[in-house]
Amino acid sequence: MEQYDVIIAGGGPIGCAVGRWCANAGRTVVIVEEHNAVGSPLHCAGLVTDRAFSLPDIPQDDLVLNTITGAEIHSPAGSTVAIGGDRTHALVIDRVRYDQALAEAAVHEGATLMTDAKITDARQTADNVSVDCDTQKIQGQVLVGADGARSTIRSLFHFTKPVEYLEGIGAEIKGVRLQPQTVLIYTGASVAPGFFAWVIPTNRQGTKARIGLCKSKGSHPSLQECYTALLNKPAIADAELVCRYGGLVPLGAVDPCVQSRVMLVGDAAAQVKPTSGGGIVTGLLCARQCARTINEAFAKQPLSPRTILRYQTRWKRVAGHELAWGMAFRRLYRRSSDSHLESWFKELQKPAVTAAITRNGDIDYPSRLLFPVLAAAPQLAVKVPRVLLTKRP
Ligand SMILES: Cc1cc2nc3c(=O)[nH]c(=O)nc-3n(C[C@H](O)[C@H](O)[C@H](O)COP(=O)(O)OP(=O)(O)OC[C@H]3O[C@@H](n4cnc5c(N)ncnc54)[C@H](O)[C@@H]3O)c2cc1C
Repeated sequence: MEQYDVIIAGGGPIGCAVGRWCANAGRTVVIVEEHNAVGSPLHCAGLVTDRAFSLPDIPQDDLVLNTITGAEIHSPAGSTVAIGGDRTHALVIDRVRYDQALAEAAVHEGATLMTDAKITDARQTADNVSVDCDTQKIQGQVLVGADGARSTIRSLFHFTKPVEYLEGIGAEIKGVRLQPQTVLIYTGASVAPGFFAWVIPTNRQGTKARIGLCKSKGSHPSLQECYTALLNKPAIADAELVCRYGGLVPLGAVDPCVQSRVMLVGDAAAQVKPTSGGGIVTGLLCARQCARTINEAFAKQPLSPRTILRYQTRWKRVAGHELAWGMAFRRLYRRSSDSHLESWFKELQKPAVTAAITRNGDIDYPSRLLFPVLAAAPQLAVKVPRVLLTKRP
């Protein structure tokens, strides 16, 4: 049986980041990935801030396809709010190459990347952990479940499930004429019930884009009907489809996400922003705490599961507030009917509000907008009880 200090289930960006940081500290690390290559199949719109590069310290080089300075948000009835200016708010990345760059960095530090190896079973004793892959057994001291939204490790060790899942669909299109640095956002029950749809230009000419939407799982209309409604939006009505993909977004962090020698991180722990479905930067923030805790635990032999427990307070310190705030905002958003959204839009269209969003907007920390926006439009607070008193859709 092969032996490692740290077994990481899942070669996504978060698993590779943990693997790299642990290998860098001298741990023997194996990253077990079920697909035969890291990064595929794609299931992401690839919109991130530059923290996606600064946190794992990898160069942007040719991984950044485009930069985004603003957004045009469409209400269900078609009125719009434009935010943004000259400042770059987000980067559009080549997500497949990004995942590969993180995997290469982990391997460069000495981690072993095992592809085409699906973990089907796992167990822990007082002294070790072990996993079964299709072809072999691996033993280690610590097991990190970084195996995404449908985490096998989460189910095998009976962790709680995320509070909810969004179902998502995405596509790459070409042959469009978009404002290259502006993201289009569509809201409303016919296009994305409980969430939103997006059009993200992926080149500096505005001729290619990633489009997609997420919606509350099981809500109506169906994902396909919403996708058709999105394709009919005038901005992309003449687009040519390049490829299509789907995915799940877990929301509502798994808590606790440590059990003795087993830790969950990234989508496996639903460390995903409930306001945008973005999980890369939040996952990396938590991954850093996960690796830091593992490295500290190994520094004091024999390894103590009590040291591993520190991860639980640490990830909350770096991401807990934002995720909890996001879930509270999401509850309000989910209860908002299209007519509620129209009345929110009337407030958001005020120049003082758009200026406050443009000045303070940070897609990794949406909670920081709360006070500037309420200061610019105090009437928004008055509307909240009206939404909360409405019967849940
Ligand atoms: C439609 C859509 C759009 C999105 N857009 C954005 C965006 O614009 N910006 C953003 O920040 N986030 C976005 N996200 C979320 C983002 O993709 C995830 O948060 C991110 O991929 C999480 O990384 P991860 O490493 O935790 O999980 P994953 O990227 O899912 O990686 C998990 C890995 O584990 C592997 N695995 C699973 N089970 C096993 C097993 N049993 N054995 C071995 N390997 C296994 C999988 O093959 C996979 O490679 C989007 C998600 C969706 C669905």
